Amino acid sequence: YHFSRRLQGDRTRLEQLATLDALTGMPNRRALEKALQQQTNGLREARFRQGLVVLDIDHFKDVNDRYGHAAGDTALSDLAAILRFELRENDQVFRFGGEEFVVLADVGSREALACFTERLRKAVYQALRGPGGRITISLGAAMYVGEQRWQDWFARADAALYAAKGLGRNSEVVAE
Ligand code: GH3
Ligand code: MG
Ligand code: MG
Repeated sequence: YHFSRRLQGDRTRLEQLATLDALTGMPNRRALEKALQQQTNGLREARFRQGLVVLDIDHFKDVNDRYGHAAGDTALSDLAAILRFELRENDQVFRFGGEEFVVLADVGSREALACFTERLRKAVYQALRGPGGRITISLGAAMYVGEQRWQDWFARADAALYAAKGLGRNSEVVAE
């Protein structure tokens, strides 16, 4: 009995390890894909209230190159703390890849998504510093508009991020 309970506990911990990122403690890409799949598979009208934000640190390679990988790691965990502080209980945040994070939020409208995205950018602008000074982020966002495949929704937000980088960084773009 105890033995099987132990195994059960170990398995739960392993499953958590597989979905939580070690540096930031945030759910990882695998967890994001699961969450997005749930959103797009559902039939609830509420899914049209969801906004997806993809954000990426500006010129992060420079931070690593100039000040070392440890300084880069510190900036990543500081960014994670800022995001956690800014987000509300129902918002979900994931570490999607190296220096890219994704937020899934029940914003209600495209206008509200634009405000939300700008607020995140400003909060990071105010609070995130590395050894070389300010570290900024760019953000791309997209409302859910009925995509059958979560990849198509994600691609709209990702294209908006690319456009935000093109604006010169420390910027945000919300997909039409
Ligand atoms: P851009 O403004 O276009 O986003 O430029 P960038 O330098 O941020 O973009 P690029 O994709 O060239 O570089 C991303 C860098 O992020 C490369 C890699 O060294 C760094 N990186 C990714 N994951 C980690 C990590 O876990 N720790 C650290 N320290 N660096 C990481
Ligand atoms: Mg990147
Ligand atoms: Mg970057």
